[in-house]
Amino acid sequence: MTVLCSRCGYPASIEQKYSGLDLCSKCFEKQVEKRFSRAVREYDLINARETIGVAISGGKDSAALLYLLHDLSKKMPFTIIPIIIDEGIEHYRKYGIEKAKLLCDSLNLPLQVYSYKDEYKLSMDEIVEKKKDLGELRVSGNCSYCGVFRKQLLNKAARELNCDKLALGHNLDDMAQTYLMNVMRNEPQRLNKFGLIIESSLEGFVSRIKPLAYIPEKETTLYCFAKKLPFHLGECPHSSEAFRGEIKDFLNSLEVKHSGVKFNIVKSFSNLKSVDDKVYENKKCFECGEITSQLICKACLYKKEINEGISAN
Ligand code: SF4
Ligand code: ZN
Repeated sequence: MTVLCSRCGYPASIEQKYSGLDLCSKCFEKQVEKRFSRAVREYDLINARETIGVAISGGKDSAALLYLLHDLSKKMPFTIIPIIIDEGIEHYRKYGIEKAKLLCDSLNLPLQVYSYKDEYKLSMDEIVEKKKDLGELRVSGNCSYCGVFRKQLLNKAARELNCDKLALGHNLDDMAQTYLMNVMRNEPQRLNKFGLIIESSLEGFVSRIKPLAYIPEKETTLYCFAKKLPFHLGECPHSSEAFRGEIKDFLNSLEVKHSGVKFNIVKSFSNLKSVDDKVYENKKCFECGEITSQLICKACLYKKEINEGISAN
């Protein structure tokens, strides 16, 4: 028997356990767009005439994010600047950059590329090589370095490009995973930065927004397919996020038995508007001038560790 769309009665192609709905492709697209708009409205993520930097990677989440923001900008005037970070990972990031360029061209948006090599004089491939010489016991996982460098460079890029805010493609699954990881690692200071908007009055800090927070990961992929958006589906060869993988599996298996748990986690927390001021206490890194809560920022410490073998921890 053909299952029909709960909204319009056409044949359904998507079964949504957590909502109890069966949806056809068109009604599914509308639902994604509504959830995106709701997040933007509920938290005032974007105001008219702002300049929004959009962190893209060439992957599915940021492709959906850029497309949805571009669509919104037709109804409300604001400027979009897509930014991609080239970590310098051979056989991986260049494919993402190619897809990102294709998407930006189709939307008529100029892509801004910033690279680790230009900024830190080290590509991610070189960092991984140097780490091997230092010995695994003395250094952190690859993603720890990469995450610190990417976050700092994105903020710098958004600032240089005069962006009022920086939009990130974190989906519902990412948000729920990050929340649980922070709780399980007992990192309450990080929970301060969990929310759909992270604002700060600090000079040089560009507020970050997460308009995809109500859209499950699976659905950002389906949305990209439905809209025929170009994206790269590859695995980073340097990934070291084993703990996140375990949390992801755990949440997915919970979701099967108790549909809606991921939504509940994010909803319970998204009532908070996060503020970074306390964390950073308005300090500038002694070495590079970027924002930090310490005398020397983590990116500079990591650079020293990689170049001189001085432990950052
Ligand atoms: Fe960087 Fe880790 Fe992402 Fe690879 S998986 S790009 S190393 S953060
Ligand atoms: Zn329908």
